[in-house]
Order: sequence, then structure tokens, then C-alpha cells
Amino acid sequence: MDEEEFRRCGKEMVDYIADYLSTIRTRPVYPDVLPGYLRPMIPAKPPRTPETFRDVMEDVERVIMPGVTHWSSPHFHAYFPGANSYPALLGDMLSGAIGCIGFSWAASPACTELETVMLDWLARTLQLPSHFLACGDSGEGGSGGGVIQGTASEATLVAMLAARNRAMRLGQDPQGSPGESGILARLVAYTSEQAHSSVERAAMFAAVRIRKLPTDGRCSLRGDALSGAVATDRAAGLVPFFLCATLGTTPSCAFDSIMELGPVCEREGLWMHIDAAYAGSAFICPEFRPLLNGVEFADSFNFNPHKMMEVNFDCSAMWVKSKADLISAFKMEPLYLKHDHQESGLITDYRVNYYN
Ligand SMILES: *Cc1c(COP(=O)(O)O)cnc(C)c1O
Repeated sequence: MDEEEFRRCGKEMVDYIADYLSTIRTRPVYPDVLPGYLRPMIPAKPPRTPETFRDVMEDVERVIMPGVTHWSSPHFHAYFPGANSYPALLGDMLSGAIGCIGFSWAASPACTELETVMLDWLARTLQLPSHFLACGDSGEGGSGGGVIQGTASEATLVAMLAARNRAMRLGQDPQGSPGESGILARLVAYTSEQAHSSVERAAMFAAVRIRKLPTDGRCSLRGDALSGAVATDRAAGLVPFFLCATLGTTPSCAFDSIMELGPVCEREGLWMHIDAAYAGSAFICPEFRPLLNGVEFADSFNFNPHKMMEVNFDCSAMWVKSKADLISAFKMEPLYLKHDHQESGLITDYRVNYYN
């Protein structure tokens, strides 16, 4: 495909997309296909010669669309809304064209700077406490900040690993012996029995115990359930270190009582992470913002613009109270990523993605 053909096909693609979205309600929302439906519809081996754009688009309608679940259809009521919008699609096109990988400030300065500023905007839109801002009202750099993750599951994992690192650091033997392996085997994380399965999986990845605590009659995790579990575990010689509270649980949209849980975490030295993956966008509305009261206790907070904010998958916004906790947990300094400005204090390279 040369430039001329790209210009022509690109315009056709935009028309195809606009037609698809404007007529989506006429398509059956759930596909009527059986497992394995696709393989017999296309050649068994890759073609030796290229096909035209037209042929490929015909295959899209003939082969792919019959097996698509139309998440953007107004008749789609499963899981959560598949956020999408024309501006998001255009943004995706441009970002694909620029094609930079922002693994550090130096890898593409606008990437890091735009991410930092947009997450400050988003934090202000949600009225998050100022300690989550990278830049406060008078322009001063804060100790916290926001970073985009792919998914809420990754945000929870990153928070749990940073908390594990902090707990191991704080638990070091004062005489200087590392003592870490002893602590690692005794760490305990908590969440509610209503929490998303990714919390339990994060504990599998982090190789720590996790307790799924019982909830009250409204499926909400309360402070006394947590403090009771912490006391029992401490008495057994274990080291409680992390709570993942949820605002808007997956099974029941329950809200854990972060006003009660926060002070327990503070008193007991637990890292409190709040997973507000799908309900989080609602806190932009002043009438729902009171549901976020207590977020000031959290060490980290996350929600998914890709669920209700018309941003297509994947975009999960995460904030931390102390970016030092995150950076020190994942610090790697390969020679090929060193750059002049990293110690300037003017930028933050979070480095919480797998590839850098
Ligand atoms: C959707 C959801 C998740 C998982 O989100 P991903 O971004 O797909 O990882 C986690 N927690 C809650 C409460 C959710 O609603």
C-alpha cells in the first residue's frame, strides 16, 4: 500500500466505520455461530500474493462480522459498556500513526508530559485529594501523580507489588540482615468476597496470601470485618500489608465502606488500594461524588475510562499518593534507557509497564 492508496482506503475505512456504527442496532447483538466457525471460511494457508483492500473488506463482512459481539450496540447489556466514540477512534488513528512508545520521558517527551497533565485534569474532574496530583494549584510538584495502565487488573497488581515492596522494606531487620524471605512468606492481603477475580489473581502473581472477607447485608466490606481479620492474622504471626477495597463491585455494584476501612488501614499500616473500575466515571457527577468520600485514605486509586467515559479499550487511570513507592518498587536502569533529564525532578518515569 502506497501513500495514494492509503489516502483512498483510509477514507473508505472511515466511511465503513461510520456506516457500521450508525446502523449497528440492526445487527444481531450476539453472534449465531458455533465454536470453530471461522477456520473453514478462509484458506488454510496464508496467501502468497496480496489481496486488494476491497477483498479484505468483503472478508470483514463475510467472515468476521458474523462472529462479532457488537459491544457498541444499544442492545448490548452484558458485562459493562464497551466505551467508544468518534473522538476516541480518531485519537487511536493518530496515535497509531505517531507510533511512539513512551517508556520514558526521553523516548517521546510529549507522551509522558501529556499523560501526567491529563491525569491531573482527570483527578481534578473527580475532585481527588490534591496529594494525587503531580502538580498542585500553585504549580508545585506533588509527591503523588497518575499513570495510565492497560486494565484495572494491572493497576491492582501494580499496587499490590508496590505495597509488598514497601512492606518488605519496612520489615527489614534493623541490624541490617535482609530478612525479606521471612516476611514475604508471612504477608497477607485482604479484599471483600465481592471483589473482582483479578484481586485474587494479583495475589497469585505476587505470591502472597489473600483473605476474601465477608460483607454486610448490602454486600459492603466494613471496618470491623477488616480489623478483626488483621488482629487474628497478627496473633498468628502473619504480616497484614494490603487491602483492595472496591467501589462498585462486579457482582452487585456494592460500595465498600472506605470511610471505615481507611482509618483501619492507616492504624495498621496497610496499603489501601481502591478499585473503582466501572463505577469510577460516575464520580464526575456531583450527585455521585459523595460515594468517593474516604478516598483521601487511599494509597492508590484506579478507575477505567474505557468503561463509561467513551474512551476505547484499553485505558485504566491509576493514581498513587507516593510515586516514590511505585518507582522504587520497579526500578530498573538498563543502559539503553538512561537519559539526561531523569534526575531533573521535572518529570516522572513511572516505568510500571512490563517492557521497560
Ligand atoms: C471491570 C472491573 C475490573 C476489571 O477491569 P479490567 O480493566 O478489565 O482489568 C476490576 N474490578 C472491577 C470492580 C471491575 O468492574
